[in-house]
Amino acid sequence: QEKINRFRNQQKISVNGKDVPKPIETFEELVETYNISEDLLQNIKNAGYEYPTPIQMQAIPRRQILACAPTGSGKTAAFLIPIIHHLKGPRKLGFRAVIVSPTRELAKQTHRECLRLAEGQGLRVHIISKISQAIKKFGSNSSQKFDILITTPNRLVYLLKQDPPAISLKNVEWLIVDESDKLFEAGVKGFRDQLAVIYTSCENPSICRAMYSATHTPVVASWCRKNMHRLVGVTIGVRNT
Ligand code: ADP
Ligand code: ADP
Ligand code: MG
Repeated sequence: QEKINRFRNQQKISVNGKDVPKPIETFEELVETYNISEDLLQNIKNAGYEYPTPIQMQAIPRRQILACAPTGSGKTAAFLIPIIHHLKGPRKLGFRAVIVSPTRELAKQTHRECLRLAEGQGLRVHIISKISQAIKKFGSNSSQKFDILITTPNRLVYLLKQDPPAISLKNVEWLIVDESDKLFEAGVKGFRDQLAVIYTSCENPSICRAMYSATHTPVVASWCRKNMHRLVGVTIGVRNT
């Protein structure tokens, strides 16, 4: 335990919560400890990632987390790698992972990184581009052959509010809110309502949720404490309240 604490200090990782997992020091450890596939490890290496960044060290071992780490510190891979690992290839259950991004541009970037890290795994990764197409593609009469959705909250909530809903989130196992500080700040009330709609549509009781942001924001932290069970807080670097 003392060794783990020393390592976290060196990496400027601070944590709070119960049963916080041990941080990984190398990506190879994921194969030994978490049984990730050699293919996924290879995709990580092919992306040019030799060593995990501090947020990746602490966030890849699966837990519900509120993560704060500076811009450019590799948060995207920190949430994508565990999702790709745990989904274990394609299913016909509809979306099993949802990533909410504040802007379409960021959603596209995350989509690109996801395709790169998931290469060869057969997972179907989507973004919502045209609403009318999305209703056909993801509605209840569709094949449900898709796995990961990356979207802005507006579009997702629009689909969920159709009668009948144009998308089902009942099999979602992962819900990630990226840049949650920006989403909460952009008209606090508006996003809270949207998040509530998304949240209640994710009916699977064993869902794993995570919030990622660059700054520590009290509204985000209090939302997480209220709504996330067995929450682990991870902050990288100096806390910039
Ligand atoms: P953040 O979301 O924290 O702002 P990103 O996920 O956008 O950061 O990553 C920033 C850059 O760092 C990207 O170009 C990404 O490809 C790169 N990157 C991520 N993880 C690693 C790593 N382990 N080693 C080297 N580069 C990385
Ligand atoms: P964002 O990129 O933020 O999701 P959009 O351009 O997709 O923004 O949508 C803007 C607003 O219009 C959203 O509230 C969305 O729900 C709504 N909207 C999008 N497409 C349609 C549509 N085809 N018909 C009616 N409303 C739509
Ligand atoms: Mg990011």
